[in-house]
Amino acid sequence: MTARVLVVDDVPANLKLLDAKLTAEYFDVLKASSGMEALEIVKEQPPDIILLDVMMPGMDGFEVCRRLKAMPETEHIPVIMVTALDQPKDRVQGLEAGADDFLTKPLNDLALFARVRSLVRLKMVTDELRMREATGQRIGALGTKEGDSILLSEPGRTLVMDDRPTSLKRITETLSENHHVTVAESQQELIELAGAGDFDFIVVSLTLQEYDGLRLCSQLRSLEATRQTPILAIVEEGDTPRLVRALDMGVNDYLVRPIERNELVARARSQLRRKRYQDYLRDKFQQGLELAITDGLTGLYNRRYMEGHLATLVEEAANTGKPVSLLIFDIDHFKSVNDTYGHAAGDAVLKQFADRIAKNVRGIDLACRLGGEEFVVVMPDTDIGYATSVAERLRQCIAAKPFRIDEEGRMLDVTVSIGIAMTNGPKDTVARLLERADQGLYRAKREGRNRVATEAA
Ligand code: GH3
Ligand code: MG
Ligand code: MG
Repeated sequence: MTARVLVVDDVPANLKLLDAKLTAEYFDVLKASSGMEALEIVKEQPPDIILLDVMMPGMDGFEVCRRLKAMPETEHIPVIMVTALDQPKDRVQGLEAGADDFLTKPLNDLALFARVRSLVRLKMVTDELRMREATGQRIGALGTKEGDSILLSEPGRTLVMDDRPTSLKRITETLSENHHVTVAESQQELIELAGAGDFDFIVVSLTLQEYDGLRLCSQLRSLEATRQTPILAIVEEGDTPRLVRALDMGVNDYLVRPIERNELVARARSQLRRKRYQDYLRDKFQQGLELAITDGLTGLYNRRYMEGHLATLVEEAANTGKPVSLLIFDIDHFKSVNDTYGHAAGDAVLKQFADRIAKNVRGIDLACRLGGEEFVVVMPDTDIGYATSVAERLRQCIAAKPFRIDEEGRMLDVTVSIGIAMTNGPKDTVARLLERADQGLYRAKREGRNRVATEAA
């Protein structure tokens, strides 16, 4: 994996050393020797990850990190603080400034590379979601303040597994202050709970007596239900090989024993935030998809979607010779519903109309609202004889029972006219098919409404 890494350090020798190491691992390296310069570079050439020295003259690393995390354009870029400071309170201060990790000099190269790879991989998921989010710049990107108020308003749900009683007690007590905590007693229980429950993050010890912690993590990563759930692993001090394996496997973050309470709080919080942010982007994307293909009033597919779908079917029909039939509906004298009972009554009729149509066609048929009081049903692999019988059934299902038009329960009789058309040989097009169905509809209107017709012979 290649990635663009920005290294920030005021000591030239440190810059040079990291540059050499990272370049040897085929990372693309950018360098800044002050906080200000780092912020400039990030604006010009956004990196995939930042290695940030803490103690620098002028603006220190904590401040640089806070600024990056406060801006929607840069807040998703992972930051690793690299420093000679090694007190828990320094680590916590870094994490609270929004850093994704805090590594102590002298750096263990393997741990550093594994961490860089892991954070860059995690960022790619977010990048993908941010990109897909149609109005990405507006909704997809959140600054820390705004984001926290949305993302962290509810307590998280977390699942914990550790077989050391004192450590487990410390973890559950600490996390219970801000989250709902569930404890798993065995491997089987962990997998079952994780698969069934909607957890925001999972805390797992990598040094369990009875189970292989790494295997547990890999299982969690391979199950559909937990693939995206952040994992916080607990490792022994100095157990770099295991940590590197865990990070490469997709573990999101880790804690080194003995577990420091504030560090646990800070790391849990950033995992919760990440999970909620991705869920939020996914929901937005889903909503966007639905909005783009459905009609807001009736929930049926919209015209654009129908035309795309129909084009595929018409092409398929040309290749296979299996016909596609199409029904166009236009509600009779609908203008007078609005004029007599008001627009809300008209809307109520449209919704119930859509419901009756959707409930009375097959799963493979596509019901859509063309616009106004016009609807279409597309029927794959259907000839005109069958289409006519469906149209007649639908016409009756509209005319048979009156429509409720207001809260008081006033009822109104509604009828519909329907035009029918079927694909006609390999040269047929969507436009022609719709045109023929339309001609059928006009004929049905002309001949007195509340009826079904094909185009005039
Ligand atoms: P015909 O039997 O010939 O189809 O007569 P009609 O009155 O149904 O036809 P016309 O096309 O003249 O009127 C359609 C009406 O549909 C006019 C418009 O106000 C109404 N309409 C279109 N969209 C909506 C909507 O979303 N809600 C409501 N309430 N009315 C709508
Ligand atoms: Mg009309
Ligand atoms: Mg009409």
